[in-house]
This record gives sequence, structure tokens and C-alpha cells, in this order.
Amino acid sequence: MDRKDFLKLLALFPLSGAAMKLNELDKLTKTFGSTEQMPALFIGHGNPMNAITDNEFVTGWKTIAKNLPKPKAILCISAHWETNGTFVTAMNAPRTIHDFGGFPKELFEAKYPAPGSQEFALETKKAIKKTTVGLDDKWGLDHGTWSILKPMFPNADIPVFQLSLDYNQPPQYHYELAKELASLRKKGVLIMGSGNMVHNLGMLKAPSMADLDKEYGFDWAIEMNTIFKDKITKLDHKALINYESLSKSAKLAIPTREHYLPLLYTLALQEKNETAKFFNDKAIAGSLTMTSVLIN
Ligand code: ZN
Repeated sequence: MDRKDFLKLLALFPLSGAAMKLNELDKLTKTFGSTEQMPALFIGHGNPMNAITDNEFVTGWKTIAKNLPKPKAILCISAHWETNGTFVTAMNAPRTIHDFGGFPKELFEAKYPAPGSQEFALETKKAIKKTTVGLDDKWGLDHGTWSILKPMFPNADIPVFQLSLDYNQPPQYHYELAKELASLRKKGVLIMGSGNMVHNLGMLKAPSMADLDKEYGFDWAIEMNTIFKDKITKLDHKALINYESLSKSAKLAIPTREHYLPLLYTLALQEKNETAKFFNDKAIAGSLTMTSVLIN
């Protein structure tokens, strides 16, 4: 089954799964508001249909959002914007990019009309010393960004901007670059990596409707999910940067790294007094995990 077919299938049978443990999620977020700086997030984004569908994962995102202090702006590092060099979107009105195929008209008609932020784009450019960051006026918000934010912040009244992934650079470089974003958190910017820790579209289990309704992960996907969480909890970022050495299964979980790198951006922002908490911790369709991380 190729990617397009899978996406079509997912569109036909939106995931529902087991009920979200809302109480537990609320507990994760109850300390918001008392902290001086914005929490940081990694979101497993999965199916673009999540933008307009209600399921347990979307419920997880909404619960986190409702407990956050209102961000001044949102900076998203999405798996779906890879460039030659590093760019930050700096337009006033970023377009909603429908960067997928084979979905219902309803999804193509969905828009996320949040404003951009030239001010914070310039702040970001200034904060990054590792490279010269280009100001972009062409991209906008790809589905790695807007399919999450539409359910999380439906009013679209918070400025949103994106930072691209330089496809020439190794994981260590991305991790170091991300550290330079720390000052933005203190200025009220919510920094959010958007990808999937385990993401192998070529190995998706061709599911029946019943299969899609319940969580399912191949052994190697579950193994990698467990290893990732263990290393994140132990603050062993070095091991996560050198992910290929974690296990033989790493190659299956991360056949290409664009959906994994956004995690490194989020983890790089964790400070000594902060902890990483997990939510939406599930595998779906065999070879994807929705596992998400809150740093605060
Ligand atoms: Zn994606």
C-alpha cells in the first residue's frame, strides 16, 4: 500500500480508539500558569484528517491547549518543511498549505487564518547564531502545523510562524540550533515540534476498518516507542541524537529523519528544572506512533 492509498483509507475510517484519560492529562498540565516561561511541545501529528476530526488524539491536543497560558505567538518546527539552509516564515498572513493528496474536499477547504509574526520571525533570526536564517515570504503553514493548531486554538487569533529543517544537516546540528531558541520561550512563544517519533509509511499495516479503530503497533514500533520514552525520561539526549545506535529497529522506525528531527528541537529546550511528560502515547496502523511530549 503506498502512502496515498493509506492516507485515503485513513480519511475514510477516521481513528477513534479508546477513550482518552482526561483526568491524567489534566494532571500533566495543572502546573501551567505558574511558570515563567512557556512550556514546549512535541506533537505526533499523524493523519491530516485530525484537523477536522474528533478522536482521542485530538482530545489530547485540546486538553493540553486549554491548560496552557495563552502564547504570544507559536513557532512550529514541522516535518513537512525541509529546505536548503534555514528559513523562518515572516509574512503577515501565512496561507494554509494543503500539502497532501487523496483527501475529502472538506479537508482541502479547511483553512487556518492565523496571522504571522514578523516581529518574532526577526527575533528568531537574531537568536540563531549557528547559521544565517533566511526570512521567507512564500511558505505559510503546512499541515504539520495547521492540522494540529486548528483543533488546539480554533480561534486562529495567535500569530503562528514556522522554522524550516535544513535537509543538509545531521541531527546534532539541529539539536544545537534548537538550543538557541530558548530565549523565545521566555518571551511567551510556544515552541512546538511536529512530526512522529516512529514514522514508516512504507510498512503500514494494510488495515481493515476494525484494525484502524484500535491502536496497533508492530513489535519494533513498540520497542522503539519504549526506548525513545526511556531516553527522553533519562535526559539522554545524546543517545537520541545518535538514534541509529539505539537498536536495530531504529532503521525501521526512522527510515527518513524529517518526522523525528522536530522531537530534537523540543528536547533541546528542556532545562534542568523541567521534566518531560508523555501523552497520546500510542502506536497506530503498525508503523506510526502518536506519542507526544510536554516539557515544563
Ligand atoms: Zn507528517
